[in-house]
Amino acid sequence: MGAEERFSSMECYICTECGTQYSETANPPDNCTICSDERQFVNHHGQQWTTHHRLKRWFRNTIHQQGPGVIGIGVEPKLGIGQRALLIRSKHGNVLWDCVSLLDDGLAELIKAAGGLRAIAVSHPHFHNSMVDWAHAFECQVYIHAANRPWVMRPDSSIRFWEGKQTELAPGMTSIHCGGHFPGSAVLHHDHDGGELFTGDTFYVNGDHRSITVMYSFPNYIPVSAARVRLVEKAVESFEFQRVYGQWWDAVIPNGGKDAIRRSAERYVSAIEGKYDNQPVR
Ligand SMILES: [Zn+2]
Ligand SMILES: [Zn+2]
Repeated sequence: MGAEERFSSMECYICTECGTQYSETANPPDNCTICSDERQFVNHHGQQWTTHHRLKRWFRNTIHQQGPGVIGIGVEPKLGIGQRALLIRSKHGNVLWDCVSLLDDGLAELIKAAGGLRAIAVSHPHFHNSMVDWAHAFECQVYIHAANRPWVMRPDSSIRFWEGKQTELAPGMTSIHCGGHFPGSAVLHHDHDGGELFTGDTFYVNGDHRSITVMYSFPNYIPVSAARVRLVEKAVESFEFQRVYGQWWDAVIPNGGKDAIRRSAERYVSAIEGKYDNQPVR
């Protein structure tokens, strides 16, 4: 899977560090735009590449229920930054929230038997992995906010760049533009069971499953400004929701999600304005 493996044909190369797939080229790109970004990092062993075809030989998809009508889809062994997607079932069709680098044949059959996909919506560039392969397999579109267009490494007619504050993916399913982590960071609201919010890294569910944070970079611990946190929180203010599905497996606030976001934003702003700075500043 590493640099020692020879590549010899036109391929859509995938960065092994972040899982992003690139447009077809004869040789792997010199570097990965996503990993080179200050929000991510290049592995200290150096840049390595693979392809979807090779992943199918050595990796497999896993599925675990994450909530009522919500099925998590991952990859084993761990790939990229350990992304998992969420398959949201609804009477208006299935929507895939975020994406993973592998779609193995068994999972493709399973999803087709369950009605296929109505749409794919991706929160931000750390999930811009094999989304075009997924869109082709299920003949659907990938919804990405237009402000994240610069980080789409495999442009394709299946990608639908949307603009403005929100867009409807299906009745009762709305993607909302929040910004923060990336300029086009978006969340998905599902008007179901008291309201559900799917957030990717936009609202990062903390280990207590009762609070969230908002960051410019998670691996490098770079915060956003107080003003930005308020804007990100405000973007979801008019939506009602209880459950918040965050960024990783089981990162779920089971209820009181809207209040958790409000309280966390308040805490964040007061921290960044010095509330916990209890030593003299000279
Ligand atoms: Zn990368
Ligand atoms: Zn991210």
